[in-house]
Amino acid sequence: MFQRSPAEMRIVILAPIGRDAALLASTLTASGIAVATATDADALLPLLIEGVGGTIIADEALRSSAIQTLAAWIADLPPWSDPPFIVLTSNGLPTRQTNQRAQEFQALGNLTLLERPVRPDTVRLAARSALRARMRQYEVRNSQEALLEANADLEQFAHSASHDLREPLRTIAAASHMLAREFPHDTSERAVELLRLIRGSVERMDGLLADLLAYAHASSIVEEQLPAVPARRSVDSALMNLAEAIRESGAIITIGELPTIMVRESHLAQVFQNLLGNAIKYRRSDQNPIVELLAQEAEGYWIFTVIDNGIGIPGAYYEAVFGIFKRLHSHDQFSGTGMGLAICKRIVERYRGRIWVESDPGQGSRFSFSIPASAGKQED
Ligand code: ADP
Repeated sequence: MFQRSPAEMRIVILAPIGRDAALLASTLTASGIAVATATDADALLPLLIEGVGGTIIADEALRSSAIQTLAAWIADLPPWSDPPFIVLTSNGLPTRQTNQRAQEFQALGNLTLLERPVRPDTVRLAARSALRARMRQYEVRNSQEALLEANADLEQFAHSASHDLREPLRTIAAASHMLAREFPHDTSERAVELLRLIRGSVERMDGLLADLLAYAHASSIVEEQLPAVPARRSVDSALMNLAEAIRESGAIITIGELPTIMVRESHLAQVFQNLLGNAIKYRRSDQNPIVELLAQEAEGYWIFTVIDNGIGIPGAYYEAVFGIFKRLHSHDQFSGTGMGLAICKRIVERYRGRIWVESDPGQGSRFSFSIPASAGKQED
């Protein structure tokens, strides 16, 4: 599936025209290693961009400015890529100048220095070891790409599955409404009850499919470069979606000062909506929900905490509630799919954060999640 191109398996040699270059090339080709040669740095860069297993450089062919160009190319490579360089230094005792050159070469990163004169065997061994290291990097790349592809496939699958499955559900819902409308006088009490059951099940199934879709979206790839968003904006969109539940329950919600962080806004809104929604839903029968959302910075993370005065969670279930379809109550007590916290966990972990709960059963719960703060900043 992920073939390495021939260019990725070869050794590129940078050496001025002459005996050295020819000797290096023939030494390697004689032992079955593919080779491409460049006589100056300008010709080298396009070869590296095309693909490279390892690079051998005769140091007289590389000026300081060219090293900087190469270092800039290396800095832009993806994390899996660390192309090996073998530099053949001039022989003789190290002088201040050669020491300085050696330091400049450090900018190349994955560097082996070989002092000339170099025996052909040494060159061959160094080239083989560079190629081996590079092959391991390609394996990492391939498994990362396979993982990304599998994730994208899964998301696509969940998307079409939940979309396609909701279609017949809509027909069932419509048909049950039509039945009730078209035969209003024929419907016995039992038939009304059965129709109510059908509609209830359809609604639940619809909710489950919607949550499965949200779960698949939660695992979608996070762009490398995310804009900084004020967490307050995500909270506001969550509160808007919860407006009806807030009004019905008479919930009092207090939002503390929140930071700006680098996450996808819709992801953060989804987490807040699930946590605030649960804080309202799992309320005690004798009290209106009182909910507080706070953020504080600790050890390089922003920690958001949603505190409620609801029914609480027994300690034995602190982990379990984050599992897929895990619920502590029957559907008659509290509606829900058991996916909300699993979605939160999935999202938070995508950003290398953590989510957890503490509770005084019967008194309330505190759900906290962390997001790395390094990329974020405090809102004014
Ligand atoms: P759902 O609410 O759809 O059941 P969740 O994944 O959001 O699914 O929550 C899983 C379970 O965790 C809930 O069924 C409930 O028992 C418990 N739970 C979640 N939030 C709270 C809360 N704030 N207070 C008490 N119990 C909660």
